[in-house]
Amino acid sequence: MNIIDAHCDVLFQLWEKDLSFFSSNELQVNYKKWMKSSVKVQCFAIFVPDYVSEESQFNIALEMVDLFYTHIIEPYDDIKFISSKEDLLELKENERGAVLTLEGCHVIGRDIAKLKTLIRLGVRAVGLTWNQANAVCDGIGESRGAGLSIFGKEVVETLNKERIWTDVSHLSYQGFFDVMEIASYPMASHSNVKQLCSHRRNLDEKQISSLIERKGWMGITFVSSFLADKEPTTYQDVIRHILYVIQMGGSSSIGFGSDFDGATSYPIDLKDCLHYNRFVKELAHYIDQADLQRICYQNFIDKFPRLR
Ligand SMILES: [Zn+2]
Repeated sequence: MNIIDAHCDVLFQLWEKDLSFFSSNELQVNYKKWMKSSVKVQCFAIFVPDYVSEESQFNIALEMVDLFYTHIIEPYDDIKFISSKEDLLELKENERGAVLTLEGCHVIGRDIAKLKTLIRLGVRAVGLTWNQANAVCDGIGESRGAGLSIFGKEVVETLNKERIWTDVSHLSYQGFFDVMEIASYPMASHSNVKQLCSHRRNLDEKQISSLIERKGWMGITFVSSFLADKEPTTYQDVIRHILYVIQMGGSSSIGFGSDFDGATSYPIDLKDCLHYNRFVKELAHYIDQADLQRICYQNFIDKFPRLR
C-alpha cells in the first residue's frame, strides 16, 4: 500500500547537523530507508528554529530550500519534486515524490513577497505559526491566544489565490477558527485527537468537526506525547486516534504526518519510515480496504490544492 506522509523535519536535521541524507542512521527518513519503505510521497518541512535571529530567518529558510534541492531532489533520478496534483498522479512505479512545506511564517516577517518567493521555490503547504506568536497569528504556546492579524488574513488570501494549503498545526485555538472561516484549503499536517491525549497541540472535537466540514485534511502524528499521556507508546495508540476520527465521520479527511526527525519519542514499534509497512498491515485489521486507501494516500491526493 502506498503511503503519503505530510510532515517530517529532515531538512532541519540536515541543516543543523550536516548529516548525509543518503544513509545517516541518525535520520528516521533517509534515502536508503525511504526507498525500502512503502512511503510513496514525503513532505519535507522548512523549519527555522527560534534561536535564529529575526534578521537571519528568511535566509536560513532559503538555505533549507537549497538543501531540499541539492540533497533530496537533484542527486536521485527516482525522487521527483511534487508541484501539483497531476505530479502526484503521474508518479511511476519506481518513483517517489517529495513535497516542500513551510512550518511557521515567522520567516517571512511582514513581507508577502517573501511568502510568494517561497511558493515560487516550491512550497505547497504553509504552517502559519510554530508555537510562538508572529506577525500572522499566535501559536498555541502563547497564553494570550490571539487569532489572525490583518496581515495574517492577507497571508491566507494569498495561499487561497495560489492554491496552497493553509496548515493549522501549531496555531492558537482562536487562530484555528479564524483560518476555518477564510481558508479555501485548510489542513493540519501533524496533529492528533485531544479527547484521547491532552497535548496542547492536539485538536478537540469541535476543531476536527470543523476541518471535516470544511473538507480539510488532518495528518495523524506519531510523536509519543501526542498519542497518549503515558510512555512507552505503540502503534496501537496511533490506531486509536485514526479510529476516533473515522467514527467522527472523518475517513475522507485523514492521513499521516509522522513528524519523523522532529521529536525525541515515538512508538516502540513505529520508529522510522521502514516501520510503516508493518503498521499499515496491522491497521488493515481495523478498517476496510476503501478507508485504508483513503487514509494512506488518496485523501491527500484528492485534497492537494495546486493544479498544473
Ligand atoms: Zn511541528
